[in-house]
Amino acid sequence: MKILVAVKRVVDANVKVRVKADGSGMDLANAKMAMNPFCEIAVEEAVRMKEAGRAEEIIAVSIGVQACQEQIRTALALGCDRGAHVLAEGEVAPLQVAKMLKELVAREGAGLVILGKQSIDSDNNQVGQMLAALAGMGQGTFACGAELEDGGIRVTREIDGGEQTVSLKLPAVVTTDLRLNEPRYASLPNIMKAKRKPIEQLTPADLGVGTESNLKTLRVVPPAERAAGVVVESVDELVDKLKTEARVM
Ligand code: AMP
Repeated sequence: MKILVAVKRVVDANVKVRVKADGSGMDLANAKMAMNPFCEIAVEEAVRMKEAGRAEEIIAVSIGVQACQEQIRTALALGCDRGAHVLAEGEVAPLQVAKMLKELVAREGAGLVILGKQSIDSDNNQVGQMLAALAGMGQGTFACGAELEDGGIRVTREIDGGEQTVSLKLPAVVTTDLRLNEPRYASLPNIMKAKRKPIEQLTPADLGVGTESNLKTLRVVPPAERAAGVVVESVDELVDKLKTEARVM
């Protein structure tokens, strides 16, 4: 079975991002970029399935600017076998990403697609669900457990107040939650080996998907600044302020 893993290039989770002065988006000039953390978990899960002998090949796919190949190389160093890069400038809307992935899944005959549950830059939480709907595949979203079984996959999902286990027929879509696994680090020999693994370069047109987005960002605003706190002298003063100022007692 082939597994397709979607890896998105996003701003590094440790970077404190700032909104551009004109409110048109985030200022990412010179910001450190990385693989979306939920996609790291997706790669790890696919590699574990291959190591367990349940998959033959893992293909890492990224859609976006030329530099997305850095994140594909990281996925290859972590154990994916080959990459596919769809070169697209500017923001690519979740629906377009889902349409491109659908085409790639069909081309590759992938039995399983693993994605992150959410991109940490745009917080969409949409691509996996859209892909499953477009391709007519079952979906196990917010996975904290995934076990391949004959012709299917059993996915344990994190839901409000507990867990839900679903059984899906393959081909299927799984999106990863934080507790699914702990991603490994790439070793130096594997980083060197990854340089020789192939990355296919494609365009949206190769996949029959237009580049015109159905989504337009109107305005981005930073969160409101919190007022500075005050240091109280005593518990009595604290209680008084809670009663008379905060009015929570
Ligand atoms: P989203 O729906 O945008 O929050 O993204 C959920 C998941 O879809 C991500 O964790 C990725 O696995 C995948 N994804 C979204 N955008 C891209 C992209 N441009 N290239 C590759 N994978 C993507």
